[in-house]
Amino acid sequence: MNQTKYIFVTGGVASSLGKGIISASIGRLLLARGYKITIQKFDPYINIDPGTLNPYEHGECYVTADGCETDLDLGHYERFTDIRTTSANNITTGKIYQSVIQREREGGYLGRTVQVVPNITDEIKRRMLQLGTAGEYDFIITEIGGTVGDIEGLPFLEAVRQLKWELGHDAVCVHLTYVPYIAAAGELKTKPSQHSVKELQGLGLQPDVLVLRAERELGRGMLEKVGHFCNVEKDCVIQSIDLPTIYEVPIRMAEQNLDVVILRKFGIKCDTTPDLDDWRDFISRREHARKEINIALVGKYDLQDAYKSILECLSQAATYNDCRVKTHFIQSEGLLRSNIAEYLSGMDGVVICPGFGQRGTEGKIVAAEYCRTHDIPTLGICLGMQIMVIEFARNVLGWKNANSSEMDPSASYHVIDLMKEQKSVTLMGGSMRLGAYSCELSVGSKAYDAYGRTNIQERHRHRYEFSSPYRPQFEQAGMSCTGINPDSGLVEIVEVPACRWYVGVQFHPEYTGTVLNPNPLFMAFVKNVIAE
Ligand code: GLN
Repeated sequence: MNQTKYIFVTGGVASSLGKGIISASIGRLLLARGYKITIQKFDPYINIDPGTLNPYEHGECYVTADGCETDLDLGHYERFTDIRTTSANNITTGKIYQSVIQREREGGYLGRTVQVVPNITDEIKRRMLQLGTAGEYDFIITEIGGTVGDIEGLPFLEAVRQLKWELGHDAVCVHLTYVPYIAAAGELKTKPSQHSVKELQGLGLQPDVLVLRAERELGRGMLEKVGHFCNVEKDCVIQSIDLPTIYEVPIRMAEQNLDVVILRKFGIKCDTTPDLDDWRDFISRREHARKEINIALVGKYDLQDAYKSILECLSQAATYNDCRVKTHFIQSEGLLRSNIAEYLSGMDGVVICPGFGQRGTEGKIVAAEYCRTHDIPTLGICLGMQIMVIEFARNVLGWKNANSSEMDPSASYHVIDLMKEQKSVTLMGGSMRLGAYSCELSVGSKAYDAYGRTNIQERHRHRYEFSSPYRPQFEQAGMSCTGINPDSGLVEIVEVPACRWYVGVQFHPEYTGTVLNPNPLFMAFVKNVIAE
């Protein structure tokens, strides 16, 4: 295809309807027809990135290989499509204003007044088109965060309106809305969807395709009625009902020809058959998995979205190991030596979760001790790895006061510490080791067994590091450092070889697991959990 095409995905009626999943599903279906695609998200909030946002506000912060802290929807994009996103794939109002204001300070507007229209909208448009300029992609899917009607979303929708006008047949709008079921009346109601489309039309935007999210089957008549009232062709109104797994969404969308109608809107003849065999194989394995495993997630939050990528990686690895995973969120605050068995004794495996700040860390240390001494397969991720190191220092090396300098600046053994060059940094945003780094694995280690090679790349998001001067004492006492950054010499992986599978990693393996390529470390963890 010589001209890059643009698909815009907006949402109405309510948030959390799964715009990210629909965008990712469109991506998967176009890939399955051999097209080159990428997906980007525009978030209307003013933060530059979600890096400083509390997980209660915004769920997990996803990290791209090039070290950008992004919205968790980018995780869905990668898991569904295997494409690698970058900082160019997640733009916020904060980033847009930052570049416009910087240009204004540099005198770039030549004395003119700088305004939302056209200056902010022009900057939004420039960014929306940016990934398409290299000619690398056939389709750019752009998800607009938030809901139609939000004040902060207006400049983005105005930018989409202008682009649709300028690009003509090279732009298509997909709008996702909600059809509630009113139990008292026993009826599904399409009025909110009609209003949402009216709201869009009031902004000058006519959706080409509607996806109606509902808890129950809508029926052809209802879909056609919505199309009729919203100026959308009959077969371009598609339903998306609740499914046992989000990974079924592309299949259900394909059955209703979502990809076919989008291609038609671009004037593209659909003469290919989508290759979804691997995807269907995954879904069928998931459905037919025979065993069930119980995995505890020991973390600060008992909130699904805070550990989204970890949950997805666990479920992918379980699926490929013929099992279903039952996750148990265990809030680490309140865990004590006296009650830990209550929480962990029935578990087949434990993940000690990433996190920031002191709260809940003592409970995580108690959990790590229990797992190590009871030989429960355990994966420590980032802070989780640091916790394994602190626990080992306290209980095996006998350094009672060992800690991370993040938790206790006055501890006598800072087994986890800031590197010298980081100590002068005081800003919260942008002071972390972020993105993909290389790691050399020791042959014969559990990590090496998992990856099957010595050089790997995984993504990081942390400030503190294993304190290398203590390494000989740890190794001598039975905690091996089996993954090392070849450039800096920093310790990236620790293991206790005496245990069945007790592995802590400074990086976040959960950012690279996808449906078709599950992360090797999660695969190894699950394999060890089910090993007799
Ligand atoms: N708080 C720790 C650090 O900054 C761990 C961060 C994490 O778990 N992502 O190093």
